[in-house]
Amino acid sequence: MNIVLLGAPGAGKGTQAKLIEEHYGLTHIATGDIFRANIKGGTPIGKLAKSYIDKGALVPDEVTCELVKDRLTNGEVGAGFMLDGFPRNLFQAGELDKFARVDLCINIDVDKCLLMDRICGRRVCSCGASYHVSTLNGATTCAKCGQPLYQRDDDNPATVEARLDTYASQTAPLAHYYEAQGKLFTVDGGSGTPEQVFAVIKQELDKYIK
Ligand code: AMP
Repeated sequence: MNIVLLGAPGAGKGTQAKLIEEHYGLTHIATGDIFRANIKGGTPIGKLAKSYIDKGALVPDEVTCELVKDRLTNGEVGAGFMLDGFPRNLFQAGELDKFARVDLCINIDVDKCLLMDRICGRRVCSCGASYHVSTLNGATTCAKCGQPLYQRDDDNPATVEARLDTYASQTAPLAHYYEAQGKLFTVDGGSGTPEQVFAVIKQELDKYIK
């Protein structure tokens, strides 16, 4: 079973991906995480990606598609893969269809005002955990592993505004792309807890994965 997770920055793709990964054993591949690891490691891809990420723009398609193609064709994907943050435009979706099969697109729908608040208040840990300042009660370390929490460089209001615009103009149309293929499942990601959102996704996934 191969899944594409669609949703604006802050919609909860990463959180749902973790829950899906734990429950169904699908391999979580997040292009944003791959770029951040490259930036941290000071690689040529990282240097190139940073200049786009800092502006809230998309990293060029050639680089991104090659990275995902390599990961999917040369890496382990176990019971299937779950792409988080890829594809992000129609060109990438077309390329993905050339090198892999997509069974379902889960579109996590969240209102823009809520997205702004979620992203600007987001604090993350290098272990992958993510929190919102409103629930941290002043804590500065990760409840799961004890490492210090930090704010992503691109989680500031100006960059977030640009990322949301990029999403609306380039990524949101992918919902129609997958709908036309009969592969779209949209879930409300704005009015429940992560566990409640996952329960709705699980109902759908249980139809495919036993
Ligand atoms: P994310 O962690 O998914 O919010 O991604 C962070 C940033 O990485 C995005 O704002 C883009 O600049 C870049 N990025 C991630 N995935 C892609 C992609 N599929 N295509 C182009 N750029 C991407």
